[in-house]
Amino acid sequence: MFNATFSSPALDAFCGLDGLGLTVTGQRIEPGTAVLECRVLEDDQWCHRCGQAGVPRGTVTRTIVHTPLGWRPTLLPVGVRRYRCVDCCTIWRQDTSKTAAAREKLSRAAIYWAFKSVVIDRMSTSRVAENLGTAWHTVNDAVLDAGSELLINDPARLHGVRVIGVDEHVWSHTSGGSKYVTVIIDLTPIRDGTGPSRLLDMVPGRSKKVFKTWLQEQKPVFRDRIETVAMDGFTGFKTAAAKEIPQAVAVMDPFHVVALAGDALDQCRQRIQQVTRGHRGRSGDPLYGIRRTLRTGAELLTSRQCDRLNSVFAADEHATVTPPVASSSGSSRPTATPTAPPRSSNSPARSRTSPATSLPR
Ligand SMILES: [Zn+2]
Repeated sequence: MFNATFSSPALDAFCGLDGLGLTVTGQRIEPGTAVLECRVLEDDQWCHRCGQAGVPRGTVTRTIVHTPLGWRPTLLPVGVRRYRCVDCCTIWRQDTSKTAAAREKLSRAAIYWAFKSVVIDRMSTSRVAENLGTAWHTVNDAVLDAGSELLINDPARLHGVRVIGVDEHVWSHTSGGSKYVTVIIDLTPIRDGTGPSRLLDMVPGRSKKVFKTWLQEQKPVFRDRIETVAMDGFTGFKTAAAKEIPQAVAVMDPFHVVALAGDALDQCRQRIQQVTRGHRGRSGDPLYGIRRTLRTGAELLTSRQCDRLNSVFAADEHATVTPPVASSSGSSRPTATPTAPPRSSNSPARSRTSPATSLPR
């Protein structure tokens, strides 16, 4: 027995128009578009200046883009009444701010739909624009504004942040020089194993001053809570952190640790190459032959690659290059030498591993 209670069918409620202060007066369903003709629910007939009743002076149409319904972009031509005050001659239109902000093409519901599609469903802005039947810039501007309002201006956004990461990022490669931003992320969920990292802010430029200013702009309670700050080897970030959040431990993030270790391994291999052969690595040289395998994570090596590494390190003259990690296949590699740097991994460790290595001075 099906006991669900039904109410009468209502297009306004189904399309979410009652919440936007509109009611449907007509519909035209075309293969590529749905057009729902609407009018504003509130009369708004009293003079905005003196309070007298206004005299209707015709209707203008404001076309709003709504959330797509039934796989079609949906347009709302809204009839907006104009009034004129007999006493003070003021002319005004019905208030449509509940439907959409002034000069905004998207309905408030469409903005949240676009925002959810981009931020949560990871849809591209161009695809969202196509689904809404509107321009890329219209969607982009609306999503950025909604993001600032819902995410950036949210006072609770910085609550509970104890581990932060700071790094530079090139956002524009141009002939006149690259443009950088300083990216600040929340690594607390990574350290606690509760989820992915969160983007906290992006500030134009990369310098000690940029990071220092950002820290100064935060509330003291936020700065006091920071326990760890992960960064690359750039001393500017470290100096800024030491000044503004002195209690925080500066660590190098795993990505840069791995990158530096990989570089050190390459330099060591090239040095031993010169010592043993007297020239740069070339085809046929044992160390040159393993240059890529050497930088592959131990857990990713095939047994053939392990055998190849073991055969090269079997020679005493190559022992200095031996990485201090046992191979995954179970076959034993030569033991570590004190001068050898740690193994590198090709996987992007930055976002998955919690930072733990002390920053070199
Ligand atoms: Zn008036």
